[in-house]
Parts: sequence; C-alpha cells; structure tokens
Amino acid sequence: MKKLIIAASLLLGGFFAQAQVKGAKHVILIGMDGFGAYCFPKVDNPHMKQMMKEGAWTLQARSVLPSSSAVNWASMVMGAGPEVHGYTEWNSKQPELPSRELDRYGLFPSIYTLLREQKPKAEIGVIYSWDGIGYLFPKAAINKELACHDNDSLATAAAVEYIKTKKPDFLFVHLDEPDGVGHNIGHNIQPYFDQVHKNDVLLGKMLQAVKDAGMWDDTIILLTADHGGIKTGHGGKTMEEMQIPWIIRGPGIQQNKEIKSSVVTYDTAATIAWIFGLKTPQVWTGRPVKEAFK
Ligand SMILES: [Zn+2]
Repeated sequence: MKKLIIAASLLLGGFFAQAQVKGAKHVILIGMDGFGAYCFPKVDNPHMKQMMKEGAWTLQARSVLPSSSAVNWASMVMGAGPEVHGYTEWNSKQPELPSRELDRYGLFPSIYTLLREQKPKAEIGVIYSWDGIGYLFPKAAINKELACHDNDSLATAAAVEYIKTKKPDFLFVHLDEPDGVGHNIGHNIQPYFDQVHKNDVLLGKMLQAVKDAGMWDDTIILLTADHGGIKTGHGGKTMEEMQIPWIIRGPGIQQNKEIKSSVVTYDTAATIAWIFGLKTPQVWTGRPVKEAFK
C-alpha cells in the first residue's frame, strides 16, 4: 500500500507539485541592478531593513564572475554559473559558450521551465526595466512579459497591477536604475544612496500590493541584485562589485536571521525550486539556502 501511495504521488507529482515549504503559494523575486551590499549602512531603506527583520538575510551573497549584468541575471534564474549555461558577458543575448544542456524551449533550463513543466497551471510573470533581461527567459513558458525600458516606476506600477489582478505563482521583477546612477554619476556617493532610497520606496509599493491582494501570509519575497559597483563601473573583482544583498521573507522563513552560509547568485533559482518542491536538473549547481528556513 505504501508503495502504491508513493507511486501515485510520483505520478501525480508532475501535475500537483506540493510546495516543499509549507504555506508558501507564491514567490516574488525582486532584483535590483547594480545594487551593492556595501551601501546598506549608508542608505535610508526602511522597507528593505523591515524585510531583514521579518526574514533571513545576508549582505555577503556573491555575484558570479564577471560581476556584470546578463551573466549574473542568467545565473540567478538558471541555477548554474556561466561555465555551464554559457552566458558570459554584461549583455549576452545568446550564450557565447554552448549551453551544456537545453530545455524544451532551446534555452538552458531555468526556474521558469521547471515551473512550467512541473506545475503546468502556474501563473508566471517577468516584468523588467532593462531590455537585456528579455533574452534570458523562455517566452513560451511564461504568461506575462513586460519590458519597461529603464523605467523602474513603470515596472513597479505594472508589477503592482499584475500582483493584484493575477496573484502570480512566480513573478520576477527587475529594476534597473541603481545601475544607471552608478554608471552615470558613481557608486558609494550620495546620488547613488538617493537612488537606492527611491528603489526602497518602489519596493514598499510592491510589498503593499502583496498585502492588498491578500497574499501576504502565503508569499515568499526574495530581494537581491546582479552585482554591485565601484566608482562608475563594475565587472571586476572588488568586493564592492561582488557582494550583493540576499533578503528573503515569508512563510517558513526564519525571522531576524543573518544567514551565515555561502550564497552565490545561482543558489537563488535552487532556493525557489526548493520552495515549490520542484525537481532540479543535474546540470544545475545551485543549492537551496536552507539555513534561511525554519
Ligand atoms: Zn547589472
């Protein structure tokens, strides 16, 4: 009988994937471009700091090398590093190295693919303000895609609307403007801190939308970045460029807990897969950040 039940749940598992993390129905991943962990002591960011109090966090998560955009956004959702997925540059639109494995959409397997295959009815959205994100996910696997062309306020407004109307199972929101200020004016100076404050206000609007949608108690929210920056750039090997915030709150997550484990950006996809109880491909090297959970 036991064997029968196991066989039946394996059979049904593909259609009714049980959340591994009890009570977690939705995951919202918010990524801020060029958002270095170094800025935390100097920034007025009450929503981020509230998330840390209510959740688990590390300011020592790391980018993959080079500390550039596309290579890191790819790693974040593809559960592996550039050596394996093949996106190696700041603006990779296709892999410069052949991806070690391809999914049914002809891309390296991503969290989007795993969700679509193992939770076919999932509502999945990607809303982004840097156009480069548009090359890093399988469009056929998702329900809602919106490019907001460098406008974080627009991306936030769209995310708020989408959260309230569709209550997505998984939403990735990308905000670009900290990186823009870093390049145009500089990192680790007041205009950059002011920009991060503006992004904190936008984060607050998305958190409020989750509450307004009645999703607060069953939504895990994860805030992170692709890389930080130094002077007016990034891509190199300073810790200002390499260290990114990684903050997670929601059902099943510890509170006011500093994560001591190593976290690399490809662990983000592995953690989301673990929350949803998804099987991950062998080619993934990311590991769920289990220390964050109760
Ligand atoms: Zn970037």
